[in-house]
Amino acid sequence: MTQPFAIGGNILRVDLTRRAVTVEPTAPLNLRFPAGMGVNNWLLLNETPLGKAPLDPDNPLIFTAGSLVGTMAATACRMTISCKNVLTGGFGAASAGGNFAPELKYAGFDHIVVTGRAAQPVYIDIDDGNVTICDADGLWGETTWETEKILRARIDRPTLELLSIGPAGESMAAAACIIVSRTRSASRCGVGAVMGSKNLKAIAVSGSGALQVAEPEAFMAESLAMQRYLMGVDTTKNLRNFGTSTSFEAWNKLGSIPVRNYQATQIDLDEADAIATAVKEKHYIEKAFGCFACPVMCSQYQRVKSGPHAGTRGEKVESQDYWDFGGKLGISDPAAVLALSEHCTQLGLDNTNATNPIAWALECYQRGLLTTDDTDGLELAWGDVEVISQLLTKIAYREGIGDLLADGSLAAAERLGRNSERFAMHMKGQDLAEEMRVFKGWALAIAVAERGGTHTQGGPLTERMPLQPELSMQRFGVPTAFDPTSYEHKAELVIYYQRFHNLLEITGICFYATYWCGLQMMGPDEVARLYSLATGDNKTADELMTEGEKILYLQKAFNMRHTTFDRASDYPPERFMNEPATGPHAGERLERPDWDRLLDEYYGQRGWDLASGKPTAENFRAVGLPELA
Ligand code: SF4
Repeated sequence: MTQPFAIGGNILRVDLTRRAVTVEPTAPLNLRFPAGMGVNNWLLLNETPLGKAPLDPDNPLIFTAGSLVGTMAATACRMTISCKNVLTGGFGAASAGGNFAPELKYAGFDHIVVTGRAAQPVYIDIDDGNVTICDADGLWGETTWETEKILRARIDRPTLELLSIGPAGESMAAAACIIVSRTRSASRCGVGAVMGSKNLKAIAVSGSGALQVAEPEAFMAESLAMQRYLMGVDTTKNLRNFGTSTSFEAWNKLGSIPVRNYQATQIDLDEADAIATAVKEKHYIEKAFGCFACPVMCSQYQRVKSGPHAGTRGEKVESQDYWDFGGKLGISDPAAVLALSEHCTQLGLDNTNATNPIAWALECYQRGLLTTDDTDGLELAWGDVEVISQLLTKIAYREGIGDLLADGSLAAAERLGRNSERFAMHMKGQDLAEEMRVFKGWALAIAVAERGGTHTQGGPLTERMPLQPELSMQRFGVPTAFDPTSYEHKAELVIYYQRFHNLLEITGICFYATYWCGLQMMGPDEVARLYSLATGDNKTADELMTEGEKILYLQKAFNMRHTTFDRASDYPPERFMNEPATGPHAGERLERPDWDRLLDEYYGQRGWDLASGKPTAENFRAVGLPELA
């Protein structure tokens, strides 16, 4: 595999301890590994020392822009950030859209590898090949929005793009994220805490270079045709008008959202309808906008015009926000969800990793395991916006009970004791974003994901689509892609989506513009065609997806090296096995014998060891990683 075209060409290395900057070519690595996350995973595997805690300064924090990022391929904008996972101790990665990643490539870089810890808080300024480590005077302690404002006043370059951490990253809360392009959140795995552990407040970038593609005329024609096509499809129109928020109501009707710390799976239908009505009638939406090269434009400038949250402005409020604040914490006022989501953005908090421990605390309080003696005098109640806002602030600054909650629900439960672990909803130590009882392929993907608790590594949204078995067979090779509660063929379906998601990780194309979101959107063949025309590395979709398998195996190798994860780590929380769903699938849960069989099928189809859930030496050789065998 090689990518002679459409690359920035270099890896930037910044050692903050020594305040040293070096540059090396990307080429030797992208000859062997898939671009973007493939190279990132290889660097992470080889450069993370054994036996160091995730926040040890010696560990690397690695940023990448995918192979198509910066070109006119639709939605080719994603930045992926890799590190040792603060919550699990294993593989960690987070992704965000926006405009930073394209600008990084225009500056001539495909990756940034940051190691060490600066003696004082700093930011990195990348102005084409001129890279400066600057003192973060006046920035430390500021919110992400204030940081961006100060840096924009300080750095006078027209194409400036920024990413930063807020107070949560500075206090190294595991719930800290990195905010990219003002509102894009690179969330999960504690990437913001790792950045804080390096005393690194922000990265600024601007580039004046251009990317050359292999076949300019054909690439431009196909890119523009795809952009035009995507603009016209119904899925795009819905996303552009309302963002992803309307799917909250649809998922609630299916009885598949986390409610009050996963004690139920459906909120009152009228409450969900009121949220959907507010979104559809655009009570808060002012204007749609999108990330770099995006014809879908699923983001909106939003503003609350009246009521207690009047004046709140936000961008990119998603369905996930309604799961996190609406379902999980019991808040049904969309204006409050918008206000809390923006509070998290400014504090640099990952909504999911911050709200899950709060949900755990609310349930512990509900059951008498926590009292006001433990909560700084706060009375915890579902849906109390003011208290939840205070808890978010406390997490970001590690104040009082916030220090207990800042490292995730599992760590909080382990510290508290009192048999509270059964209410910590996590996979492999990372807080969950998702309900898992009803949709069986969805549950499998989340359970086996190497970073822990994520649906973006193989989660099949097809289980929510009205697909006929014939179409399901034709597209996915299994008849049950649409059947939510069936266990049959779900292992194959998850493997299909793991391969597809890794294809997208190579390219840096946004999941929302693809098959993942709707079958009218870009499929693997279209993505592979754009990849081949842009990079000059001619590959079919199947070849590219097979190459992308290295991404998974490098994650697996990282976890085999740094953790004790095994088959037992791929079992969902007991609550999903013992307490049934509510709503239209009332009674549905994950049955242990069925789960045992599903894991056997998944490991078996991958050729992995059934007892441990780990690949064999032969598996590593077969995917082209013989040195890991
Ligand atoms: S679909 Fe949404 S998240 Fe994806 S690139 Fe477009 S605006 Fe960004």
